[in-house]
Amino acid sequence: MSIRIGPKDWADDPLQNEDLAKYPFLNDVSEYIRQTHFDFEEYNRPEFKDIIETAIERIETEASGRLYEKLDRFQREVFIFLATLIIVKSIGIESVLRKYSLFEAMRAEKFLTEDLKRERNEQKRRLLLFKIFKELFNVDIDIDADDERLFKVKITDYLKRASHFHEQEWKLINRMVNKGYVYLDADETVRLFRNELGALVYDKVKMMQLLTLPEALKTKIEELRTKMTHRYEYRATAVTDYPPCVKHALEVMGRGENLPHSARVMLATYMLAIGKPVDEIVMMYENAPDFNEKITRYQVEHLAGMKGSRTKYSVPSCDKLRNENLCFATAECDGIINPIQFGRKMRK
Ligand code: SF4
Repeated sequence: MSIRIGPKDWADDPLQNEDLAKYPFLNDVSEYIRQTHFDFEEYNRPEFKDIIETAIERIETEASGRLYEKLDRFQREVFIFLATLIIVKSIGIESVLRKYSLFEAMRAEKFLTEDLKRERNEQKRRLLLFKIFKELFNVDIDIDADDERLFKVKITDYLKRASHFHEQEWKLINRMVNKGYVYLDADETVRLFRNELGALVYDKVKMMQLLTLPEALKTKIEELRTKMTHRYEYRATAVTDYPPCVKHALEVMGRGENLPHSARVMLATYMLAIGKPVDEIVMMYENAPDFNEKITRYQVEHLAGMKGSRTKYSVPSCDKLRNENLCFATAECDGIINPIQFGRKMRK
């Protein structure tokens, strides 16, 4: 079967194919794929070789914690995105899926922020807000009547999302609020939905049913799986006998969510105390949305007493962690006053 592709007749729709190429998870794009009667076997055709290579490049970039910014024309983007979903599903490594989902969300975040800031066509901006926030997440976001750079979202919708952020700037008390709405700029509006965009991509992969794989993808998937299993194996198996507070911190980062500074300090000091090498500790933060290897390395070395004041920092006490809402005690924590004791107890 060949693909019947061609630009949709967008008639009165101000969103063109080049706009939709940036958001391949939209309902319109799924509908487009359905209309083309695309068969996965099409990936065996020679003209799809480059699409598969690009999909692999995108997954490798994102799995290593970098944003993939190249944008192709619409039809290619659609089939590149679809190929990434199939490949990530077939590789079957949870941490790769999480990383991929997060960086796909951040990629869309980048394009959407630019579109909301630069687009002069009011109708197009409103339609983007509708297609992304209303159609996908059932949230109404409106452009402020007095200042088109600002967007308003209901307080309840804001709190549902911002409560997961730890930075002071997201606290309601630090926001501009009026008549039941919170006012945000384009960056903040889109950032508010990063987790949901990530979850949307994650669910797309999880819900995919793959019966047979085209030969052209099979070999590539095997190569990538071998490469990535080696790299991600450690994190998949090493979490088991840590204290609950440490496990929780690793899980939060595994989901690509932000970890408060105090939890990051707890994690690093704990890992240093049980003798993990700095290199390994640095890579534990790799999933953090704001991960920067150079800065993380400096901070871990600082806590290890290798930099700055040359003071080696101790693991915070359970009391301190409880006060900071970082304690997730289980029965095995009984009698422990510092997480480091949990580690000793479990290793006996
Ligand atoms: S009791 Fe201590 S070791 Fe256990 S979860 Fe709480 S802080 Fe961690």
